[in-house]
Amino acid sequence: MDTYDLIVIGGGINGVGIARDAAGRGLKVYLCEKDDLASHTSSWSTKLIHGGLRYLEQFEFRLVRESLMEREVLLNAAPQMVKPLRFVLPHHKGLRPAWILRLGLFLYDHIGGRRLLPPTNSVNLAGGPLGEPLSDEFYTGFEYTDCQVDDSRLVVLNAMDAVDRGARIETRTKLLSAERQEDKWITTVSDPNGNSRQIVGSVLVNAAGPWVTDTLKTLAQAKPRKQLRLVKGSHIVTRRLYDHDRAYIFQNADGRIIFAIPYVNDTTLIGTTDVVFENEPASAEISESEIDYLCQAVSEYLKLPVMRNMIISTFSGVRPLYDEIGDAEVSKVTRDYAFDIDDEGGAPVLSVYGGKLTTYRKLAEHALSQLEVYCPSMRGAWTRAEPLPGAPQGGYPAWPEVAQGLQDRYSFLSQDTLQRMLGAHGENLVKVLGDARVPDDLGQHFGHGLYEAEVDYMMTREFARAAADVLQRRTKLYDLFSEPEREALQRFIDRRLGGGATAP
Ligand code: FAD
Repeated sequence: MDTYDLIVIGGGINGVGIARDAAGRGLKVYLCEKDDLASHTSSWSTKLIHGGLRYLEQFEFRLVRESLMEREVLLNAAPQMVKPLRFVLPHHKGLRPAWILRLGLFLYDHIGGRRLLPPTNSVNLAGGPLGEPLSDEFYTGFEYTDCQVDDSRLVVLNAMDAVDRGARIETRTKLLSAERQEDKWITTVSDPNGNSRQIVGSVLVNAAGPWVTDTLKTLAQAKPRKQLRLVKGSHIVTRRLYDHDRAYIFQNADGRIIFAIPYVNDTTLIGTTDVVFENEPASAEISESEIDYLCQAVSEYLKLPVMRNMIISTFSGVRPLYDEIGDAEVSKVTRDYAFDIDDEGGAPVLSVYGGKLTTYRKLAEHALSQLEVYCPSMRGAWTRAEPLPGAPQGGYPAWPEVAQGLQDRYSFLSQDTLQRMLGAHGENLVKVLGDARVPDDLGQHFGHGLYEAEVDYMMTREFARAAADVLQRRTKLYDLFSEPEREALQRFIDRRLGGGATAP
């Protein structure tokens, strides 16, 4: 029987973050994910590493401060993928007064130890390119900086690093049950072929996201002592709405805010909503009223309204929020995280509630500090200054020079493809492309700059097992691919798997 210090349930950002941190502290770690890595909430986010300006209004100073500090930590840990993004906040006369916005931005600038990112400033929107897409009534505003990330790739990088540090990660492997026997958990997992086997661990970490309470109740027969609130958030993706590289943050009359963000493949990402959700989390999809809400909210600000026929795709995710108060409005439920540690009767289970992509590293650090008492051999915290796979030593300041070197070396690729690959792989691009000098050296071309060499790398190093893993979560090329192109990629992957391609 396989025996571990830590068994982690869930390969979303929180599960892989904890697995990575624990493996780096010398613990023997096993993680199972029932689907693909990041195939649920962690790939349907707004993709921001941000302080969350709006949470200041809810006096969530601890959360905002921690999030603001994490921006720069993550910027250094993965500068190839975490990119500064300047936000334009137009002043809306009927909504928050300018002095409130100025005060909020002043705090935003100062409470998070900002060193690398530029400060806030006022902008004159009249006549300039930033005001060009907006209705004439919006002529002043503010600018500030947060960061944008590829959410699912952030999960993949953490999983890769966990494996490099000794963790065992199995995707498409579901935890079926967990039974506490004194100081051990005897768990049963089922693999992709439906075979089940037992894994034994000293500590169980329940990072099942929207399934956290179900997992605790039905699989581990423990009683949740914290409350979970599932809140659906949806996005629409339209063709690019404007030419410049800034994002907009629009205040809405209901007190919420809506982002319009430059997104992959020449599109604009618009979101999000907050809708109470009580169904099976994997079934979440955008409703007609959410589409109307998002179109109306952004159209209030734009010269040319966003119409339904401009939508290329949509996506929805379910936030597994920690419901501290119980009856708060959904948009006001905290985005902070909490742990429930149950060690009654022997071996402990730590369940993760809430959190944000932005705070996953700190969440993992906090979770492990709570588990120290059960795993006294573990080493201290270490992730703060360690790069993720593909990041250069020297972090954010070092990246431009490294990126230039890689661009020169692989200049035979189109700019779009090269930029996408640089963001995805960073320095590891050398492992993906090797000594290739012309596109033909990269094997079969599946379309839109996706080559056999990269798919092979994603299968052997990044846990990809299906076309959707590659197109939705390892790249964001899915919308560009036609159905026949997706099928051709799937056939290739099936052939490789049949030929014995193995997971990391
Ligand atoms: P998940 O990603 O859902 O992972 C849980 C995993 O557990 C799943 O993959 C699931 O398959 C697996 N699992 C469940 N049961 C089992 C089992 N029995 N066996 C094996 N595996 C199991 N945060 C930000 O910082 N910035 C943002 O811009 C942002 N925008 C957001 C926008 C929306 C619309 C939403 C919904 C969230 C957003 N967030 C954002 C929050 C962030 O996405 C989440 O906090 C985070 O992704 C939650 O990760 P998780 O690991 O807890 O859950």
